[in-house]
Amino acid sequence: MKIRILGAHNIESDKYGCPCFVIDDILAIEAGSLTSRLSITQQQNLKAILLTHYHYDHTRDIPLLGMSLFLSKKTTEIYATKSIYESLKAHLLNGDLYPDFSAFPPEKPVFNFNIVEPGKPISIANYRVLPLAVKHAAPTIGYQITSFNGKSVFITSDTGPGLDDCWKQINPNLLIIETTLPDYKEEAARRAGHLTPRLLIKELESFRKIKGYLPQVVLVHLDPLIEKEIKAEIHEFKKALSIKIRFGREGMKIKI
Ligand SMILES: [Zn+2]
Ligand SMILES: [Zn+2]
Repeated sequence: MKIRILGAHNIESDKYGCPCFVIDDILAIEAGSLTSRLSITQQQNLKAILLTHYHYDHTRDIPLLGMSLFLSKKTTEIYATKSIYESLKAHLLNGDLYPDFSAFPPEKPVFNFNIVEPGKPISIANYRVLPLAVKHAAPTIGYQITSFNGKSVFITSDTGPGLDDCWKQINPNLLIIETTLPDYKEEAARRAGHLTPRLLIKELESFRKIKGYLPQVVLVHLDPLIEKEIKAEIHEFKKALSIKIRFGREGMKIKI
């Protein structure tokens, strides 16, 4: 399984992209950097886009992908919870801000929406996909994606602490998890449903206790404005606990 990180941050600039991951060039998870960082051919080759929650940094490229596929006479599948679907229909694809590509063009709409529910596994192309609820301010799901050869990745999307229920249900080789804020902003992180280095380490220790191992860990959704502080704090924990953690970055490719 080949995972490509298109966006690893919570804001965008010429250097940073919003969250977006592509697996084996055909499955996209999150839509923060889909159109800005994929060629038109790569956009056309996507078999499915899996959405985690309706926050704008995670859904923003859906309308532009819709237009790109419409002009290319292509269609794709979108997997999302009911709350994401309703939010997209009400705000981004409302026929006013942009066309509702789930109903347009009428003869063959660009997007075919599939409603997913946390805890209910689904098959997409050759992958087993398990959506699981995580702990964010908006209703959010993470996805475990398992390929035909048994390799799997779990992408948490935005989440705060309290992931034991998730850990019990997954066995990933790779964990892509968020760390948005440094430790001195723990209160704000807890309020919004985000992790700081200290909260992350607690979750990883809990994973190790429940599962008896730790997968490769890649951190994303960092705030670039305070990324240095977050990295310094993570570095201290890594030394003390001998945990291997990498920082996600735009353009990063990971093979598992
Ligand atoms: Zn969010
Ligand atoms: Zn976010």
